Amino acid sequence: MSNWLDSHCHINDEAFRDDLDEVLNHMAENDVLKAMIISSYIEDYQFGLTISHPDITFKHALGIYPGDVDDVDDELFERYAELCKEENCDAVGEIGLDYHWNKENRERQLEIFRKQVELAVSLSKPVIIHSRDAIQDTYDILKQYPVRGVMHCYSDSAEMAREFVKLGFFISMSGTLTWKNAKEPLRVIREVPLDRLLIETDCPYLTPAPNRGKRNEPAYVVYTGKKICEELSLEEEDFKKQLNRNYHELFGL
Ligand SMILES: [Zn+2]
Repeated sequence: MSNWLDSHCHINDEAFRDDLDEVLNHMAENDVLKAMIISSYIEDYQFGLTISHPDITFKHALGIYPGDVDDVDDELFERYAELCKEENCDAVGEIGLDYHWNKENRERQLEIFRKQVELAVSLSKPVIIHSRDAIQDTYDILKQYPVRGVMHCYSDSAEMAREFVKLGFFISMSGTLTWKNAKEPLRVIREVPLDRLLIETDCPYLTPAPNRGKRNEPAYVVYTGKKICEELSLEEEDFKKQLNRNYHELFGL
């Protein structure tokens, strides 16, 4: 029997400080037994490393978020890089470009993104990519490097998803595909081969239906997984098996 997994969560976020044990128990009860914890800040990363549950296996990623590049100097970049080198760190991310929140600092975003991709390449670790309103620039950079990774919370076109798959990237879908107005995400899951597909919550954000409006948590990844099975007429067990294979191919065993 295979289990569900959450390929991108922020359970180290303050939103979970008061009831983290309960959130971990919900995961176990809902058969979500693997999770990748993403940190944008060093303190969150260090806290993330202390999170444990007897039934759940965690992986860890650290990276400078595109929204924060203006606050990062060389010294801070080096501190991130040193932690990324450690064995505890399974991936560099989330990194990327976000022109939705700020386009003024585009050059700085590109510079920090490139430097982190180069870091990942030098460490032979995968990257976790955040891209918002910036898909072409994201693609143009990733294409230049021999890097593996995942497009997290993919929200661009099915055609573009195919291009990232050609680069060898995984495409990770969030709870937004369960929302009523979801059209493009349902095209995306038909376009991406199953051996390149992942699911995630990005919790505490992007809560899937029917819990939309509440805080998201890793246990809810099951709604996203079941929706994909329904849409693609997949047996749940087969899909879970494939997800686990993909997760380990990307992040290691
Ligand atoms: Zn995230």
